[in-house]
Amino acid sequence: MTTTSHFDYVIVGQGLAGTALGWTLMQRGYRVVLFDRCEETTSSQIAAGLITPITGLRLVVSWRLDEFLPFATRFYRRIEELTETHLLKLKPMLRLFSSAEEQEQYRQRSQTHFPELVAVPDPLADEREFDLSRGGFEMQSGAQLDVPTYLEVSRHYFEERKSFIKAEIDPTNDLRFESDQVRLPRFELTATKIIFCQGIQGRQNHWFETVPFEGAKGEILLLKIPGLTERRVVHRGVWLAHWKDDLYRAGSTYDREHLDCHPTSAGREEICKKLAEFLKRPFEVIDHRAAVRPVIRGRLPIVGLHPLQSQIGFLNGFASKGSLQTPWMANHCADVLEGIVQPEKQLDLSRKLRLNS
Ligand SMILES: Cc1cc2nc3c(=O)[nH]c(=O)nc-3n(C[C@H](O)[C@H](O)[C@H](O)COP(=O)(O)OP(=O)(O)OC[C@H]3O[C@@H](n4cnc5c(N)ncnc54)[C@H](O)[C@@H]3O)c2cc1C
Repeated sequence: MTTTSHFDYVIVGQGLAGTALGWTLMQRGYRVVLFDRCEETTSSQIAAGLITPITGLRLVVSWRLDEFLPFATRFYRRIEELTETHLLKLKPMLRLFSSAEEQEQYRQRSQTHFPELVAVPDPLADEREFDLSRGGFEMQSGAQLDVPTYLEVSRHYFEERKSFIKAEIDPTNDLRFESDQVRLPRFELTATKIIFCQGIQGRQNHWFETVPFEGAKGEILLLKIPGLTERRVVHRGVWLAHWKDDLYRAGSTYDREHLDCHPTSAGREEICKKLAEFLKRPFEVIDHRAAVRPVIRGRLPIVGLHPLQSQIGFLNGFASKGSLQTPWMANHCADVLEGIVQPEKQLDLSRKLRLNS
């Protein structure tokens, strides 16, 4: 006779979204099990983990930075304590201007939109290493999450508590819905609810087929740059971020058309060309990877229970901001699951689904 294990929540996907939700629900005392296929290349596995306060040509402050960054910092510090690791580095970032338009944007916006976030050190950086001819500024509230280590130590922690299973869930054939629970016969377990945190693979889940996934492929390089001592992340069209020793990462491209995980020579050339415009040192490319960011139309993350099957939940759509947004959104998701709040209107799954009935 087989015994069936019961969990409060099954989480499908252990990327940045599922991991943050797993920790959040466990810390609220729930029995949780996470499933992941453990693919080598996923959006989270290759992410640089940057939390960039001001982005884009128009110098826009990251959405709800003042709320999300302190929340994320407390969240990752707690995981660091529990796993005895160091995962999040708070460090300034350097933004170098590449055009007169950017200089003008900065002149117009810096004192009105983000005076407390910026400084202009003198010198900005070592001019033997970087082209500083158009100037730039330093962002004070930057941060970088070591995403692969965070995912690995989290998985280890979950495994030790029998809360992790390496397997693929088939949303069409694996789930049996009963009045007060969902059964997964293949895994001999039941749960009160199942929450899908599948990143871009959520597109193939028939429960969410009308969610307007867009996706954006990104390519990223691992570089060897002997002798470079700059430890801040430097942005100018692309970013350059120190990894360890003389290794740096640089990226990333943004392609809405080719939604696959194949690195391309065009992607590599684009990053190398933009990098060479401001980095004076030679560099060697030693690795090159690509994955698809889970972008949902509107570019905000989305959370909620399925309006036709409330045993199913959804947490997805983190686009380029998984490191910053997943801790707060996981907490919001847990509040929704507990029935404490409704999803915030703009983040609500039910507004993104087109239902026939
Ligand atoms: C090149 C690049 C650079 C980036 N840089 C940054 C950055 O600097 N800062 C930042 O914050 N963000 C960055 N991002 C974006 C960030 O990676 C995403 O916001 C984040 O990865 C989304 O996490 P997720 O958990 O939603 O999705 P994913 O990382 O895709 O995780 C989903 C997981 O679910 C698993 N899964 C899916 N379906 C199933 C199933 N049926 N059964 C079992 N498992 C399943 C997958 O295998 C995967 O492990 C970058 C992305 C790219 C591509």
